[in-house]
Amino acid sequence: MKYVDELPVEGKSIFLRVDFNVPVKDGRVQDNTRIKAALPTINYLLEKGARIIAASHLGRPKGKMLPELSLKPVSKRLGEILGREVKFSPDIIGERVENLKNSLKEGEILLLENLRFNKGERENTPEFAKELSKGIEIYVNDAFGTCHRAHASVYALPELIETKGAGFLIKKEIEHLTKALNSPLHPYSLITGGVKVSDKIPILRSLMRNADRILIGGAMAYTFLKAKGHKIGSSKLEEEMVNEAENIMEEAEKRGKEFLLPLDHRCVKKIDEDAKIKIMKEIEKGWIGVDIGPESEKFFSQRIKDSAMIVWNGPMGIFEIEVFSNGTESIASAIASSGAYSIVGGGDSASAVKKAGVADRITHISTGGGASLEFLSGKKLPGLMVLEKR
Ligand code: ADP
Ligand code: MG
Repeated sequence: MKYVDELPVEGKSIFLRVDFNVPVKDGRVQDNTRIKAALPTINYLLEKGARIIAASHLGRPKGKMLPELSLKPVSKRLGEILGREVKFSPDIIGERVENLKNSLKEGEILLLENLRFNKGERENTPEFAKELSKGIEIYVNDAFGTCHRAHASVYALPELIETKGAGFLIKKEIEHLTKALNSPLHPYSLITGGVKVSDKIPILRSLMRNADRILIGGAMAYTFLKAKGHKIGSSKLEEEMVNEAENIMEEAEKRGKEFLLPLDHRCVKKIDEDAKIKIMKEIEKGWIGVDIGPESEKFFSQRIKDSAMIVWNGPMGIFEIEVFSNGTESIASAIASSGAYSIVGGGDSASAVKKAGVADRITHISTGGGASLEFLSGKKLPGLMVLEKR
């Protein structure tokens, strides 16, 4: 696979797939992180006098034009950050956008409207990819967080273009994740939590290969606790994953790995910031586990602190609500002060690390949740594989 600095980009029309899937509220971008992450590649291309046609998805519009998911506010913010005009095309494909692409001068940048307004994007249709490819000479992907999905702008499009490669953001991601995958340091702790249980449990088996310890928190923990016969009250449960959870714990034991579940929980009767919080080891009927408890914090932190490598995905509780964010913040602090080679992946986990004020002490904060986990589990990501094809 080639990187952008190995491609003859001077003066060329570049399709640049970026990840501008940022939170937008009332027409304003709420968080710049993902825009800033794309700057090294954008600036490099602009300096080389390339003509950039940038494109991204935003949210899940399911093939329909939804004004609240327009990328227009993102083009404005990008322009402010770059200190230069960013043109915006309300069309994704068609004659008008072709004219815009063709009129672009060297060192100019055009952002297309949300790719997912066209259902061809998610369906990876060759027709949509063909339209996107018009007027394009070189393809560059820097949207790491989307590489695990074979969508048109990530898969069918680069298949059509001969000269292609990855940007600097993807380069950095691959360097850090490859280290954790191929040269793990021990003791290696894998910490997972959050809610996307049915996404995460199936890859946990391969993900835990390198790990010496597996620590589970967040909503994810209750499926495992249920499998072990604990009382979980009305906490979030993925019933059809209970069996698999049991199998995974058996396998971990067979392979001599430590498998750690929370010892206690912060529980409420209703998910509300004013709710009365009770700490329980076995969760009573009608109560919901919303965060790991203080004893678990201590226990987890101690196992984290003497690790040499740590991979974390998924918060320990409903950290968006201040009173339920204790567990997540203490885990974030423990990781930061461990001195270990640490990788944090996932949108919510990354924002939890920032919220805890320890982002600068994490070795690598991945811009991809699903993508980084799949990479770490040893799977080849379609969006990267297609760039290797000659
Ligand atoms: P990431 O984005 O880091 O991959 P996920 O999206 O899987 O993580 O999970 C994050 C979400 O999990 C947060 O919105 C958080 O509120 C939720 N969560 C964590 N613990 C619980 C819990 N005990 N009950 C319900 N939701 C939870
Ligand atoms: Mg998330």
